[in-house]
Amino acid sequence: MKNLSYISEIYSAVQGEGPLVGVRQIFVRFSVCDLRCVWCDTPGSLNKTKVCLVEQSPGKREFKKNNNPVHSDELIKICSSLDPIMHHSLSITGGEPLLQWKFLKSFLPGFKNRFNIPVYLESGGHKPNELTKVIEYLDFISMDFKLPSSAYCGDLWDKHFDFLKISINSNAKTWVKIVVSNKTDFNELEYALKNIKSVSVSKNDIQVILQPVTAINNVQPPDETIILGWQSSLIGILPDIRIIPQTHKFINQK
Ligand code: SF4
Repeated sequence: MKNLSYISEIYSAVQGEGPLVGVRQIFVRFSVCDLRCVWCDTPGSLNKTKVCLVEQSPGKREFKKNNNPVHSDELIKICSSLDPIMHHSLSITGGEPLLQWKFLKSFLPGFKNRFNIPVYLESGGHKPNELTKVIEYLDFISMDFKLPSSAYCGDLWDKHFDFLKISINSNAKTWVKIVVSNKTDFNELEYALKNIKSVSVSKNDIQVILQPVTAINNVQPPDETIILGWQSSLIGILPDIRIIPQTHKFINQK
Protein backbone atom coordinates (compact mmCIF):
# COMPACT_ATOMS: atom_id res chain seq x y z
CA MET A 1 0.00 0.00 0.00
CA LYS A 2 2.94 2.35 -0.43
CA ASN A 3 1.04 4.32 -3.10
CA LEU A 4 -2.21 4.52 -1.12
CA SER A 5 -3.09 6.45 1.99
CA TYR A 6 -6.10 7.36 4.09
CA ILE A 7 -6.55 11.13 4.08
CA SER A 8 -9.02 13.17 6.12
CA GLU A 9 -9.13 16.42 4.14
CA ILE A 10 -7.33 18.54 1.55
CA TYR A 11 -7.81 22.30 1.35
CA SER A 12 -6.18 25.71 0.97
CA ALA A 13 -5.78 27.94 4.03
CA VAL A 14 -3.38 30.07 6.04
CA GLN A 15 -0.95 28.54 8.48
CA GLY A 16 -2.19 29.60 11.90
CA GLU A 17 0.62 28.45 14.15
CA GLY A 18 4.30 29.03 14.72
CA PRO A 19 6.83 31.31 13.04
CA LEU A 20 5.30 31.01 9.55
CA VAL A 21 1.90 32.18 10.72
CA GLY A 22 -0.12 33.75 7.90
CA VAL A 23 1.45 32.05 4.88
CA ARG A 24 -0.92 30.34 2.46
CA GLN A 25 -0.62 26.58 2.31
CA ILE A 26 -2.24 23.55 0.78
CA PHE A 27 -3.10 21.32 3.72
CA VAL A 28 -3.10 17.55 3.32
CA ARG A 29 -4.43 16.17 6.57
CA PHE A 30 -3.61 12.49 6.89
CA SER A 31 -5.82 10.11 8.83
CA VAL A 32 -4.75 8.14 11.89
CA CYS A 33 -2.85 9.22 14.98
CA ASP A 34 -1.33 7.06 17.68
CA LEU A 35 -1.59 9.81 20.29
CA ARG A 36 -4.65 11.23 22.03
CA CYS A 37 -3.76 14.74 23.18
CA VAL A 38 -6.35 16.12 25.56
CA TRP A 39 -6.67 19.29 23.43
CA CYS A 40 -6.90 17.57 20.04
CA ASP A 41 -8.85 19.83 17.67
CA THR A 42 -8.85 17.42 14.71
CA PRO A 43 -10.78 14.44 16.09
CA GLY A 44 -11.95 13.56 12.57
CA SER A 45 -8.38 12.68 11.62
CA LEU A 46 -7.66 10.23 14.43
CA ASN A 47 -8.97 7.17 12.58
CA LYS A 48 -9.41 5.98 9.00
CA THR A 49 -12.54 7.22 7.23
CA LYS A 50 -14.28 5.96 4.09
CA VAL A 51 -14.01 9.32 2.37
CA CYS A 52 -11.63 12.23 2.17
CA LEU A 53 -13.01 15.80 1.89
CA VAL A 54 -11.45 17.67 -1.04
CA GLU A 55 -11.86 21.42 -1.51
CA GLN A 56 -12.91 22.23 -5.06
CA SER A 57 -11.47 25.73 -5.36
CA PRO A 58 -8.81 27.28 -3.07
CA GLY A 59 -10.40 28.94 -0.03
CA LYS A 60 -14.04 28.58 -1.24
CA ARG A 61 -14.87 25.80 1.23
CA GLU A 62 -16.90 23.74 -1.20
CA PHE A 63 -15.92 20.16 -0.57
CA LYS A 64 -16.50 16.96 -2.48
CA LYS A 65 -16.11 13.49 -1.10
CA ASN A 66 -13.33 11.36 -2.50
CA ASN A 67 -13.05 7.67 -1.73
CA ASN A 68 -10.27 6.51 0.58
CA PRO A 69 -7.57 5.35 0.29
CA VAL A 70 -6.15 7.95 -2.11
CA HIS A 71 -3.44 7.06 -4.65
CA SER A 72 -0.29 9.24 -4.72
CA ASP A 73 -0.90 10.14 -8.39
CA GLU A 74 -4.44 11.20 -7.54
CA LEU A 75 -3.18 13.36 -4.68
CA ILE A 76 -0.84 15.15 -7.07
CA LYS A 77 -3.83 15.84 -9.36
CA ILE A 78 -5.89 17.16 -6.43
CA CYS A 79 -3.01 19.43 -5.34
CA SER A 80 -2.72 20.66 -8.92
CA SER A 81 -6.41 21.66 -8.89
CA LEU A 82 -5.74 23.87 -5.83
CA ASP A 83 -3.17 26.03 -7.67
CA PRO A 84 0.05 25.17 -5.79
CA ILE A 85 2.00 28.08 -7.29
CA MET A 86 0.00 30.65 -5.29
CA HIS A 87 0.87 28.79 -2.09
CA HIS A 88 3.92 29.26 0.09
CA SER A 89 4.18 25.53 0.78
CA LEU A 90 2.46 22.20 1.17
CA SER A 91 1.57 21.35 4.78
CA ILE A 92 1.52 17.65 5.52
CA THR A 93 -0.35 17.29 8.77
CA GLY A 94 -2.75 15.00 10.53
CA GLY A 95 -3.33 12.90 12.44
CA GLU A 96 0.31 11.88 12.50
CA PRO A 97 1.60 12.11 8.91
CA LEU A 98 4.78 10.17 9.62
CA LEU A 99 2.69 7.05 10.19
CA GLN A 100 2.25 7.25 6.38
CA TRP A 101 5.97 7.44 5.64
CA LYS A 102 5.82 4.80 2.91
CA PHE A 103 3.18 6.79 1.06
CA LEU A 104 5.11 10.05 1.61
CA LYS A 105 8.23 8.46 0.16
CA SER A 106 6.22 7.69 -2.94
CA PHE A 107 4.25 10.98 -3.13
CA LEU A 108 6.74 13.71 -2.14
CA PRO A 109 9.38 13.26 -4.87
CA GLY A 110 6.69 13.50 -7.57
CA PHE A 111 5.06 16.49 -5.87
CA LYS A 112 8.33 18.41 -5.54
CA ASN A 113 9.37 17.59 -9.05
CA ARG A 114 6.07 18.83 -10.46
CA PHE A 115 5.39 21.95 -8.34
CA ASN A 116 8.70 23.02 -6.82
CA ILE A 117 7.18 24.50 -3.65
CA PRO A 118 8.49 23.71 -0.14
CA VAL A 119 7.14 20.91 2.02
CA TYR A 120 6.22 21.69 5.63
CA LEU A 121 5.79 18.81 8.08
CA GLU A 122 3.65 19.16 11.20
CA SER A 123 4.36 16.24 13.50
CA GLY A 124 3.87 15.12 17.07
CA GLY A 125 7.65 14.76 17.10
CA HIS A 126 7.64 11.19 18.38
CA LYS A 127 8.45 9.14 15.26
CA PRO A 128 12.22 9.53 14.75
CA ASN A 129 12.72 6.38 12.68
CA GLU A 130 9.93 7.30 10.31
CA LEU A 131 11.32 10.84 10.02
CA THR A 132 14.61 9.52 8.67
CA LYS A 133 12.76 7.85 5.77
CA VAL A 134 11.39 11.13 4.37
CA ILE A 135 13.59 13.88 5.74
CA GLU A 136 15.33 14.50 2.43
CA TYR A 137 12.03 15.84 1.01
CA LEU A 138 11.25 18.25 3.88
CA ASP A 139 11.95 22.00 3.97
CA PHE A 140 10.29 22.95 7.28
CA ILE A 141 9.68 20.80 10.36
CA SER A 142 7.29 21.98 13.05
CA MET A 143 7.77 19.43 15.80
CA ASP A 144 5.64 19.21 18.92
CA PHE A 145 6.90 18.47 22.37
CA LYS A 146 4.09 16.87 24.34
CA LEU A 147 4.51 17.57 28.05
CA PRO A 148 3.15 14.77 30.24
CA SER A 149 1.57 17.23 32.68
CA SER A 150 -0.67 18.82 30.08
CA ALA A 151 -0.90 16.68 26.90
CA TYR A 152 -1.66 13.44 28.83
CA CYS A 153 0.15 11.36 26.20
CA GLY A 154 2.61 9.77 28.62
CA ASP A 155 6.40 10.04 28.54
CA LEU A 156 7.69 10.84 25.04
CA TRP A 157 10.93 12.55 26.10
CA ASP A 158 13.42 10.16 24.48
CA LYS A 159 11.44 10.03 21.24
CA HIS A 160 11.26 13.82 21.14
CA PHE A 161 15.00 14.22 21.72
CA ASP A 162 15.87 11.60 19.07
CA PHE A 163 13.50 13.29 16.62
CA LEU A 164 15.02 16.70 17.27
CA LYS A 165 18.58 15.39 16.81
CA ILE A 166 17.65 14.13 13.35
CA SER A 167 15.71 17.21 12.26
CA ILE A 168 18.19 19.77 13.59
CA ASN A 169 21.00 18.11 11.65
CA SER A 170 19.05 18.08 8.39
CA ASN A 171 18.57 20.79 5.78
CA ALA A 172 15.00 21.40 6.97
CA LYS A 173 14.38 24.52 9.06
CA THR A 174 13.19 23.16 12.40
CA TRP A 175 11.39 24.64 15.37
CA VAL A 176 9.74 23.20 18.46
CA LYS A 177 6.17 23.95 19.47
CA ILE A 178 4.99 23.27 23.01
CA VAL A 179 1.27 23.61 23.72
CA VAL A 180 0.80 24.87 27.27
CA SER A 181 -2.27 24.94 29.48
CA ASN A 182 -3.15 25.85 33.04
CA LYS A 183 -2.04 22.30 33.97
CA THR A 184 1.49 22.68 32.55
CA ASP A 185 4.25 21.94 35.04
CA PHE A 186 7.04 24.51 34.71
CA ASN A 187 9.64 21.91 35.74
CA GLU A 188 8.79 19.96 32.58
CA LEU A 189 9.11 23.08 30.45
CA GLU A 190 12.52 23.78 31.97
CA TYR A 191 13.61 20.16 31.43
CA ALA A 192 12.45 20.33 27.79
CA LEU A 193 14.31 23.59 27.14
CA LYS A 194 17.58 22.40 28.71
CA ASN A 195 17.52 19.27 26.59
CA ILE A 196 16.52 21.13 23.42
CA LYS A 197 19.53 23.34 24.04
CA SER A 198 21.89 20.41 24.49
CA VAL A 199 20.51 18.51 21.46
CA SER A 200 20.62 21.55 19.17
CA VAL A 201 24.00 22.81 20.33
CA SER A 202 25.10 23.44 16.75
CA LYS A 203 22.09 25.71 16.13
CA ASN A 204 21.34 27.69 19.26
CA ASP A 205 19.06 29.99 17.24
CA ILE A 206 16.36 27.30 17.33
CA GLN A 207 12.96 28.80 18.00
CA VAL A 208 10.72 27.39 20.70
CA ILE A 209 7.08 28.37 20.47
CA LEU A 210 4.93 28.32 23.59
CA GLN A 211 1.42 27.94 22.21
CA PRO A 212 -1.31 28.67 24.77
CA VAL A 213 -3.98 26.04 24.27
CA THR A 214 -7.22 27.23 22.68
CA ALA A 215 -9.86 26.35 25.28
CA ILE A 216 -11.36 22.94 24.47
CA ASN A 217 -12.69 19.92 26.39
CA ASN A 218 -12.42 21.81 29.73
CA VAL A 219 -8.74 22.53 29.00
CA GLN A 220 -7.86 26.17 29.60
CA PRO A 221 -4.84 28.29 28.67
CA PRO A 222 -2.46 29.50 31.37
CA ASP A 223 -3.00 32.95 32.90
CA GLU A 224 -1.23 35.81 31.14
CA THR A 225 1.15 36.52 34.02
CA ILE A 226 2.07 32.84 34.30
CA ILE A 227 3.03 32.41 30.65
CA LEU A 228 4.91 35.73 30.57
CA GLY A 229 6.84 34.53 33.63
CA TRP A 230 7.66 31.23 31.90
CA GLN A 231 8.97 33.10 28.86
CA SER A 232 11.16 35.34 31.05
CA SER A 233 12.68 32.33 32.81
CA LEU A 234 13.17 30.20 29.69
CA ILE A 235 14.90 32.98 27.73
CA GLY A 236 17.82 32.37 30.08
CA ILE A 237 18.17 28.90 28.54
CA LEU A 238 17.47 29.60 24.86
CA PRO A 239 17.15 33.12 23.45
CA ASP A 240 14.28 32.69 20.99
CA ILE A 241 11.22 31.73 23.02
CA ARG A 242 8.00 33.02 21.44
CA ILE A 243 4.41 32.98 22.63
CA ILE A 244 2.12 32.46 19.63
CA PRO A 245 -1.53 31.36 19.98
CA GLN A 246 -3.49 29.56 17.27
CA THR A 247 -4.23 32.60 15.08
CA HIS A 248 -6.39 30.81 12.51
CA LYS A 249 -9.09 30.46 15.17
CA PHE A 250 -9.52 34.27 15.14
CA ILE A 251 -10.96 34.08 11.61
CA ASN A 252 -12.87 30.85 12.33
CA GLN A 253 -10.63 28.94 9.96
CA LYS A 254 -10.47 25.21 10.52
S1 SF4 B 1 -0.84 14.53 17.84
FE1 SF4 B 1 -2.24 15.98 16.82
S2 SF4 B 1 -3.79 14.69 15.79
FE2 SF4 B 1 -2.72 13.38 17.28
S3 SF4 B 1 -4.04 13.49 19.10
FE3 SF4 B 1 -2.43 15.06 19.34
S4 SF4 B 1 -3.35 16.94 18.52
FE4 SF4 B 1 -4.63 15.21 17.79
